[in-house]
Amino acid sequence: MKSSPSTWKAGKRNVMNSISRPITRRDFVQTTAAFAAAAAAPEVLISSAQGAEKRPAPKSIGIQVGAVSFVDEGVEPVLDILQQKAAVDTIYLTTFTYGRGLAGRQVPGQPFPDHGAQESDEKFFHGGNYATPHPDFYRNTVLKETRAPDHGDLDIVTAVLPAAKKRGMKLFCSIEDVFRSDVPGVKDVAEVDLQGRKTGTLCLFHPDVRAFWTALATDLSKSYDIDGILFFNERNGPLLNALGASHSQSIASSRVTCFCEHHQKAAREHGINFDRAREGYAKLDRFVQSSLKDQRPSDGYFVEFWRLLVEHPEIIGWDRLFDTGKHQVLAGVNEAVKAVRKDLQVGFHIEHVNSFNPIFRATRRYDDLAQKADFLKVVVYNNCGGERYANFIRNVGSTVFRDVPKEELMRFNNHLLGYGNEPNLDELAGAGLSPDYVARETTRALAGVQGKCKIYPGIDIGIPTGKNSRKASPDDTNAAVSAALKAGAHGLILSRKYSEMRLANLEAAGKAVREFNG
Ligand SMILES: [Zn+2]
Repeated sequence: MKSSPSTWKAGKRNVMNSISRPITRRDFVQTTAAFAAAAAAPEVLISSAQGAEKRPAPKSIGIQVGAVSFVDEGVEPVLDILQQKAAVDTIYLTTFTYGRGLAGRQVPGQPFPDHGAQESDEKFFHGGNYATPHPDFYRNTVLKETRAPDHGDLDIVTAVLPAAKKRGMKLFCSIEDVFRSDVPGVKDVAEVDLQGRKTGTLCLFHPDVRAFWTALATDLSKSYDIDGILFFNERNGPLLNALGASHSQSIASSRVTCFCEHHQKAAREHGINFDRAREGYAKLDRFVQSSLKDQRPSDGYFVEFWRLLVEHPEIIGWDRLFDTGKHQVLAGVNEAVKAVRKDLQVGFHIEHVNSFNPIFRATRRYDDLAQKADFLKVVVYNNCGGERYANFIRNVGSTVFRDVPKEELMRFNNHLLGYGNEPNLDELAGAGLSPDYVARETTRALAGVQGKCKIYPGIDIGIPTGKNSRKASPDDTNAAVSAALKAGAHGLILSRKYSEMRLANLEAAGKAVREFNG
């Protein structure tokens, strides 16, 4: 079942109208209609196609783009910029998410880049499925009503796919496990925390949740002539969440999950004692809360933490159970896509904490992930990486490693991770991590997958950071792109989304790609 082809044409220049209400398909048609003839002119299409032929990219050069950018700026103008400036040949089109990392305009409070609408979309950003959910696929899940209302009845895949194909570009649908608690059905399938409260995140052991991801992957693969799916799931297990041992999370030891009936059933199947696990996490919560109040255990913070793990190995078991659930969903998405067409490609986004946290790193095997995917998008965001790594050190340095001076803790951690000579903790956010970090993480991923799948490092272009933290300059972008390609990556993915990237950075990325290609 194919969707009907798009009847509208993209605009020929930026549609920079100030829009503070949801942009409907009708608006889109009206604002771009004046330029439709020029966009559809045969010579324009031919010159674009010739341009693509002249520069065959031996490595896959991709970029993440949300629907709003095509709505704001027009499909053809955006594709022109991506091809001509950034040497992009693959679009990772944000098709499903309720999050602002992949969808929407620039996040509120951050400066707008030098293209696209210069007004926040706070008032109409909602998120959901920016394509058309075909109800037949969603019979086995309560998560049926996920259509994104942001742009009326516009189907972004139908809108962008023919234009991308005409240029010889590939198009993947990006789908992300970020929900809103007010989406119909979410409360029925949400995780249950340590206190028995429902959260707004989906329980990965709930049959309806698994059915949803399979349904979405199948729907997109069957209904559109796409090249594949890139699946984002940055969710972490209860141990990491309890400790806040990540760069972005708050320390939420009282709200760790999931203790629902489906998790209890899965625990029984895996031989994990549910009551002991819950008791362990309750003790871990008390440890974390006391640490934050500076109440040092008589044997020290680390010893007390390690003793908890020794006395309650169910803490690790329960964390492992979360990973099992998550990886079953990843495998399910892969199987669903391959069941539609074997040559469709499936990729997984590998979150940033994988490169900062040795304990988390131990729970992720690249060779195992490689068996469930055709490629891994490994996050090697080096500019925002400085701020994020510093946050991670401060978080773990406030609980488990509270006895260690933070600068020394970071040096020690650098050794564990194989980091090179990165800046001091106080300078890290402002300086960012080095292009060498990009190269090292790329090399590590390539070694880890042992040739079983491709590695596309995610390159940081303008990912929002604090006021005094590093933001990508054109030189930074050029260096990071070069580092990834020279390290042997099979390609790369410019991240997180076009609506936060400046054009000079895109040009610098394209220059680095072309220099590499000779
Ligand atoms: Zn659960």
